[in-house]
Amino acid sequence: MLDFELTEEQQALVSTARQFTKDRIIPIAAECDQHSKFPVDVFKQAWELGLVTPGIEEKYGGAGMGEIDNVLITEELAYGCTGIQTSITANTLAATPIMIAGNEDQKKKYLGMLAREPVFAAYAITEPGAGSDAAGIQCRARKVGDDWVLNGQKCFITNASIASWYVVFATTNPEGRHKNIMAFIVDRESPGLSIGKKEDKMGQRASDTATVILEDVKVPAANVLAGEGEGFKVAMQTFDRTRPDIGAGACGIMRRALEESIRYALERKTFGTAIANHQAVQFMIAEMAIKYEATRLMVHKAAWMIDKGSRNSIVASYSKAFGADAAMQVATDAVQVFGGNGFMKEYPVEKLMRDAKVLQIYEGTSQVQRMVIAKNLFAMFK
Ligand SMILES: Cc1cc2nc3c(=O)[nH]c(=O)nc-3n(C[C@H](O)[C@H](O)[C@H](O)COP(=O)(O)OP(=O)(O)OC[C@H]3O[C@@H](n4cnc5c(N)ncnc54)[C@H](O)[C@@H]3O)c2cc1C
Repeated sequence: MLDFELTEEQQALVSTARQFTKDRIIPIAAECDQHSKFPVDVFKQAWELGLVTPGIEEKYGGAGMGEIDNVLITEELAYGCTGIQTSITANTLAATPIMIAGNEDQKKKYLGMLAREPVFAAYAITEPGAGSDAAGIQCRARKVGDDWVLNGQKCFITNASIASWYVVFATTNPEGRHKNIMAFIVDRESPGLSIGKKEDKMGQRASDTATVILEDVKVPAANVLAGEGEGFKVAMQTFDRTRPDIGAGACGIMRRALEESIRYALERKTFGTAIANHQAVQFMIAEMAIKYEATRLMVHKAAWMIDKGSRNSIVASYSKAFGADAAMQVATDAVQVFGGNGFMKEYPVEKLMRDAKVLQIYEGTSQVQRMVIAKNLFAMFK
């Protein structure tokens, strides 16, 4: 049987996350956006409520929730502010490669740390010269005795300045592309690791985004997460699991844009009547609702496939590509519904439009998602 009903536990989870967003995120979102400030105390409260890295297994101290639970939480947090939500969910982005490829000791230590304390972690693959072309990374890994030494730079890394550890992708030979890529867990305190400039962003300004610089950083053999050739696979398998979460963030933005637009359209009058009575406005709002609903279904399907253990690359990319593009359109339309007020910072919708843009860029651009989709489609027919 196909069942769209949430379980009682899931309904309770949504209600906790919704209340938290209402009480703790919405009141400070505009200020965090204006000052480009991440509210660490809010993160700690979210952590105490079990809203951070909910998928860590119980044997490592986590709640052992499924991916559906995870995307439900993300949508609620994103309704309040996708900047704050992105920094919270970046911990899951960093934890996922360890869930996929970590050995017992690594899982106990690093997943255990996230479950035990409200600390941050980061996932670092992007470099100044390699974003979409992730196999083109140049950060070098050199074996010295039993250890590895890393040299390079990782840019645009969420939580870079505040992370206690990083999953870093590096190569033993850039010419070998994906065949030589490895993955390492690198502690923040490692000598040679420093943080470069913090980015001044267009949107999602509450999240911390900065460069990680690695200069002769020694990584013990125990912190090798994936060997030569395996690192790239782990990076891609991670995205299969985390892209639906970007779709969930898109759902949060769209639901917020929709609700703000409906309320405003019922109040604002032009030509002697509420703008909600003009068909052009009604149609914009109907389109917003369709896009929200369609994205949510795709996100939940992609998450359900993860929980079932099925391969979900194509559906993960559907949910990310469709959701990100839809959120950008819906947030832009919300500004349109608000007219001149929509363009002003006094109203909440211009922030949604700025925040939505990066959904089409990070964790694979909208173009890269279409490349993944096309590749998978053609593979099915070969
Ligand atoms: C706020 C923010 C947070 C981020 N957080 C992280 C993080 O935590 N960890 C991390 O590792 N990275 C992170 N990133 C990096 C992000 O994943 C990359 O910016 C993204 O993958 C795009 O890479 P790029 O910026 O190098 O763009 P490019 O790869 O230079 O792409 C430029 C344009 O060309 C298009 N393009 C490129 N190649 C093709 C092609 N073959 N066919 C068609 N079009 C193509 C792209 O779609 C894009 O429109 C973050 C980025 C931002 C903005």
